[in-house]
Amino acid sequence: MSYTALYRKFRPADFEDVKGQEAIVTTLKNQIRAERIGHAYLFCGTRGTGKTTVAKILAKAVNCERPVDGSPCNECAVCQAINNQTSMNVIEIDAASNNGVDNIREIIDEVQYSPTEGRYKVYIIDEVHMLSTGAFNALLKTLEEPPSYVIFILATTEVQKIPITILSRCQRYDFKRITIDTIAERIRELADKERIAAEEKAIRYVAKAADGSMRDGLSLFDQCIAFYLGQELTYDRVLEVLGAVDTEVFGKMFGYIVKGEAVEALELLEGLIIDGRELLQFTTDFTWYLRNLLLLKTSDMATDMIDAATEQLEALKQDSLLTDTDTLLRYIRILSELSNQLRYASQKRVLLEVALIKLCRPEMEVNYDSILDRLRKVERQLADGVAVKPPVKEGEGQPWLKNGEDSPIRSLESLSEEAKRALAEAVSEDLQAIGRDWAAIMAMLSPALNKMMGTARPVAGEGNMLLLQFEDKMEKDFVDRPGHLEEIQNVIQQRLQKEIKIETRYVGAGEEKTGSELDLRNIMGILEKKVPVEYED
Ligand SMILES: [Zn+2]
Repeated sequence: MSYTALYRKFRPADFEDVKGQEAIVTTLKNQIRAERIGHAYLFCGTRGTGKTTVAKILAKAVNCERPVDGSPCNECAVCQAINNQTSMNVIEIDAASNNGVDNIREIIDEVQYSPTEGRYKVYIIDEVHMLSTGAFNALLKTLEEPPSYVIFILATTEVQKIPITILSRCQRYDFKRITIDTIAERIRELADKERIAAEEKAIRYVAKAADGSMRDGLSLFDQCIAFYLGQELTYDRVLEVLGAVDTEVFGKMFGYIVKGEAVEALELLEGLIIDGRELLQFTTDFTWYLRNLLLLKTSDMATDMIDAATEQLEALKQDSLLTDTDTLLRYIRILSELSNQLRYASQKRVLLEVALIKLCRPEMEVNYDSILDRLRKVERQLADGVAVKPPVKEGEGQPWLKNGEDSPIRSLESLSEEAKRALAEAVSEDLQAIGRDWAAIMAMLSPALNKMMGTARPVAGEGNMLLLQFEDKMEKDFVDRPGHLEEIQNVIQQRLQKEIKIETRYVGAGEEKTGSELDLRNIMGILEKKVPVEYED
């Protein structure tokens, strides 16, 4: 069973079949009926919105021997010649490959001869923004004084690149992105004509994926049909063929991240992996989705810069209200770093999971913007009347990780110099002083206690508390015995004239220290080291 692509088979032959550009079609038909045809038209708009299709129908309509209500009859000799591409009256030029002065001069030479059949010579110049400056200048001369039998139709996806001198000579028509409804309707119409069974949801998905382009919609549908030739096209099959993730998934993922629901985010990811989605593609698309949210938040003009149909835009606007600009920037930074890593990584899944956890749990990162993000989270919780939970401590487990998985917490060693310095600066002066005088403090302890403090690592605890981490359980138990912590406190008080609370914690031998716990003994070294300030882009 052979299959002819719907896009080729059903290219609109008259104005009635052009979907989603009603205003433009009506204006053009009125001009043809009133015989008030212009000599230069500029059709602008994104790809697949019908610019060249309408240009060809217009070319037929102005030459047709028996036009019906402004539309070509498609039956007369002239119409048929144009449909069969044998007419000398319709000349199509792709400016992307013919952009030089010579190409335009050729046209200008031809323009001098009136048509041998029909009434008008129609020049359709596609991707006209690709013309060189010289070519534009040559074209301009003809546009200024065109022979009465010549019509230029310039089509472009990038109208901002067209010189103003050209713009001012043309009647401009802006082709809109086509709505999901219109694309879906057209696909349904053609599927019925071809007796192709397809689920409504499948068609909607394709229409949505087409992102405003009828041509993309039909060719995506063609792809799916070709893959499941002779079978019903279901939603699941469409997703499978297109290998892409529905934008709804991004909304869902974003919701989980904003709420800090790491388990849900990882489950969603797992579903995508089982479905065979491409993780790098997912990351790129998700970053793009966040970029759109950011644009919507920061600019009133964003709607023009976002490549999404109206329906998607509304959902995006709702999502953009869920968080603030800085948080979005942090998300985008983490994901951009991730895309770079994913390109060369073999463990893509693990990397993506770690990134999602980082997004959900700013407390696991130790740089400036994640600290701000943590603050905002706390503020939001306070505003919502939610009791703020202390960060998860070691030993209490990390509930978002499954058993046996490595902790994604970064070790201190992997921190940049700036991050280490920021951490050191966040430590109170009292604790800094303890770090500086640690050797002296140790020397003032009784010999037994001094010996058992051998592996103790002084770090900054919550609220100006000194936290002692032990790799040896026996040593920790010894220090915990009555009187021993008091002895350390007394020594510190004698030395620094400060009363400091102390807490002990067993961290296990060789266990990775968390990045947020900086060894106080290193603080002075870090603070005194001159670090050039560098910002990530
Ligand atoms: Zn005709």
